[in-house]
Amino acid sequence: MAKNTACPVCLGRFLRARPERLRDAEGIRVLECDDCTHVFLDSFDHINEAYFDRGEFLLNKPFLDGVDDRLRHYEHENSERFDRVGPLVVNKRVLDFGCGAGALIEKILPLAKSVEGLEKTEPFRRRLIQRGHRVHEKIGDLDSSYDVILAFHVVEHLPDPVESLRGLAKCLNPDGLIYLEVPNVNDALMTLYDVEPAQKFLFFQDHLQYLTRASLARTVKRAGLRVVTMSGHNRFGLANHLYWLRHGKPGGHKIWSFLESKTMFEEYSRMLAAADLSDTLVAEIRL
Ligand SMILES: [Zn+2]
Repeated sequence: MAKNTACPVCLGRFLRARPERLRDAEGIRVLECDDCTHVFLDSFDHINEAYFDRGEFLLNKPFLDGVDDRLRHYEHENSERFDRVGPLVVNKRVLDFGCGAGALIEKILPLAKSVEGLEKTEPFRRRLIQRGHRVHEKIGDLDSSYDVILAFHVVEHLPDPVESLRGLAKCLNPDGLIYLEVPNVNDALMTLYDVEPAQKFLFFQDHLQYLTRASLARTVKRAGLRVVTMSGHNRFGLANHLYWLRHGKPGGHKIWSFLESKTMFEEYSRMLAAADLSDTLVAEIRL
């Protein structure tokens, strides 16, 4: 197994092994870069072409039975994403980078001038092409330029995030925007609350990269782009966090949803973001 000896973000070689283990694999360690605070797996060998082609990558969840099941499972999340990016895509040429089963593409379609997708997982790409969408397999295949590129939870899956962002930068119009969202490794469950079962849950094979605000900013800069805004965002709120603290398991946002009003969710998210404890980071990026 080839081991990573340099940080994929800053190329730094002062790396230390973190104590956490992966929830779904033995023998892979979690490393942290002393220079830029980036966290990443010590080997990416398990990510090969077959892994994507078979669609294992997006369908390997025990609670999902195929593409339609996945669409239903994530509908709530896709609606929330659409609420945020809807205003940004009106009359724009849009690329959804890592579009998955295409839920967001179909929501954006009536608003945008055009929407294309990029998806490495074959079953999803095939499904979208059958539905009449233009979906590319890799960055090198892109032949248009875009006003808006969306990248929701994609960068953490890529072996070389800097190179991928460089590739996207080449297809971005001069005044274009990249709207990027990734998990935040400084998630309150990991840091403030220090929940041991959450630390066992957070690291897994699909996520090669675990970004911090500093390492995300460094990634963007090395790709020759600039961060216009970076903010914390929460996918999960107090009900989810209390459930983790009490039961050591995810799912509290559903099981204990009665604990949480919309206002409370928003206020709690704001507090977490102010202290850099959000579960997610959102960056708006330009040339
Ligand atoms: Zn680094």
